[in-house]
Amino acid sequence: MKVTPTKPIIPILPSYWQDILDSIVTVAKGMWVTLRNFGRVVIKRQATTITKKWGSREIALRYRGTIGLTIDKRTGKENCIGCLACERICPDHCIHIETIDDKPGHKGKYPVVFIIDNNLCSLCGLCVEACPVPALIHTEIWQVGGYSHRDLVFDKQRLLEIGEWQQERWIRVGIGNIDQVTGKKSMQMTDEEWQAEEEKKKAAAAARAQRAATARQQQTAQPEKTKHFSGSKAMSQETVEG
Ligand code: SF4
Ligand code: SF4
Repeated sequence: MKVTPTKPIIPILPSYWQDILDSIVTVAKGMWVTLRNFGRVVIKRQATTITKKWGSREIALRYRGTIGLTIDKRTGKENCIGCLACERICPDHCIHIETIDDKPGHKGKYPVVFIIDNNLCSLCGLCVEACPVPALIHTEIWQVGGYSHRDLVFDKQRLLEIGEWQQERWIRVGIGNIDQVTGKKSMQMTDEEWQAEEEKKKAAAAARAQRAATARQQQTAQPEKTKHFSGSKAMSQETVEG
């Protein structure tokens, strides 16, 4: 008689049931994300990737986008004092500045040429950090495009337009008054203040010149007195000998 061997009983470990449960939960979670996005995109029209068709996404005000140059809103003058700190610190060598020493009405050096090459700029923000006056800012602008590399080289005019746009926006949305937006560190003055300072400098220079002239007069008068004094001494000696 042939005896068939009994099948060994393989115990089902608790981890087996655990694995099945985990897979069900994982699939359910994935399906929930899919359904949620389906409802948001198709029913509510709140797309994750926004196309021009559905408008554009609101950019955070702290967004560190394209660099712009600011003007002092109080005086209406450019904030840059041509110190070249930004040009020196830029790791990508994409800033080029040329300055002149004296521009009436402008405190500090005046940048006649200010170029940022956005082909190279990595938006690291070092130039903004290094600027001693609030002349350079990050803006919310991120769509910087062009048909050639040349289109991405921004001159001073373009940089000022970008910066002013951002400043106006900050004022509009109410983050800070004019002082905070342009920075209290701005060195620029109104034409009247500039005039008053020039007058003060002229008066101080005139006073210095006057003091120098008086000192010179006193120095020239001193030897004559000494001569007169030694002459009278000689005369008195002659009188004594006589
Ligand atoms: S953000 Fe960085 S790379 Fe761009 S201009 Fe400023 S320092 Fe240069
Ligand atoms: S932008 Fe700022 S750091 Fe650059 S030259 Fe002007 S003042 Fe100096």
